[in-house]
Amino acid sequence: MARVYNFSAGPAVLPEEVLKEAADEMLDYKGTGMSVMEMSHRSKAYQAIIDEAEADLRELMNIPDNYKVLFLQGGASQQFAMIPMNLMKNKVADYIVTGQWAKKAYQEAQIYGKANKIASSEDKTFSYIPDCSDLPISEDADYVYICENNTIYGTKFKTLPNTKGKTLVADVSSCFLSEPVDVTKYGVIYGGVQKNIGPAGVVIVIIREDLITEDTLPGTPTMLKYKIHADNGSMYNTPPAYGIYICGKVFKWIKKMGGLTAMKERNEAKAKVLYDFLDESKLFKGTVRKEDRSLMNVPFVTGNEELDAKFVKEATAAGFVNLKGHRTVGGMRASIYNAMPIEGVQKLVEFMKKFEEENA
Ligand SMILES: *Cc1c(COP(=O)(O)O)cnc(C)c1O
Repeated sequence: MARVYNFSAGPAVLPEEVLKEAADEMLDYKGTGMSVMEMSHRSKAYQAIIDEAEADLRELMNIPDNYKVLFLQGGASQQFAMIPMNLMKNKVADYIVTGQWAKKAYQEAQIYGKANKIASSEDKTFSYIPDCSDLPISEDADYVYICENNTIYGTKFKTLPNTKGKTLVADVSSCFLSEPVDVTKYGVIYGGVQKNIGPAGVVIVIIREDLITEDTLPGTPTMLKYKIHADNGSMYNTPPAYGIYICGKVFKWIKKMGGLTAMKERNEAKAKVLYDFLDESKLFKGTVRKEDRSLMNVPFVTGNEELDAKFVKEATAAGFVNLKGHRTVGGMRASIYNAMPIEGVQKLVEFMKKFEEENA
């Protein structure tokens, strides 16, 4: 068995320990004689799995009691509609557009009401985070929306926008559990889990209770109402049961590693190895304004498309896979999520140094 260093942006690398544990439990989960995949979601054994997953997530993120944790389906993209359908009471919302995912959310919201683009970094290919200290927040905005870590472009909000008292809604798909957060600053925090937590098919929504109401937009399908899922403990229908089980194992792994403070230190150390090299390299360059650099997604280029392609090809052959940048940015992108060990980044940098020498 040969595991590669997988720099995929998502679905992405998971902790090897978690995968091994899941493999051990595949045929017989804790003496039940069946796989979690084969188990009724109404069984005692499964209820314990989802309850423990929620409790561990609450502990990791220090989630206050007045927030619900929902395990839903439809990926992060489903939330682009679900958020306006449930939160747009005045049919107005303000969007900060810092990349493709924020843009998609902004466009989706336009179906349901007046979505205002109050800031954008599209003028420079989303390579920075705009100043959000004094934005023209709409008086009647139901919420202000951000994508906190921009997976494709490699930028991250280091300070949250000043929403002037409005509810903040954040897509944290690609920075979920990468560092400590103050949940109380948000109305809704959500993310698809396939970037940093688990297998695709689960989206976690952490939502303040007062935002969960019967008062959704007319025509909102039952399955897209937060209230129905909150009232039923994420079990209104069959949840993505196996995916949630893996998420639960990743929560335990993070707890064992020392929680989110330890994750942050680990992620900073990892990112520093790569950014320090990019800053001194004569061949490779980072594409993001330094102060806005993500700890999770690191895009870089050589400035020469042929050389980029050669690098990706040779890196793949050497066991560093999924380094090709997003089609809208080109170049390369190394996604170095929680589960990527620092050795993976160190070895990648060694490989980049060697490539630089050979192609000087
Ligand atoms: C990947 C990603 C999405 C889309 O996730 P899906 O689960 O495929 O819908 C949305 N937002 C961000 C920040 C992402 O990284």
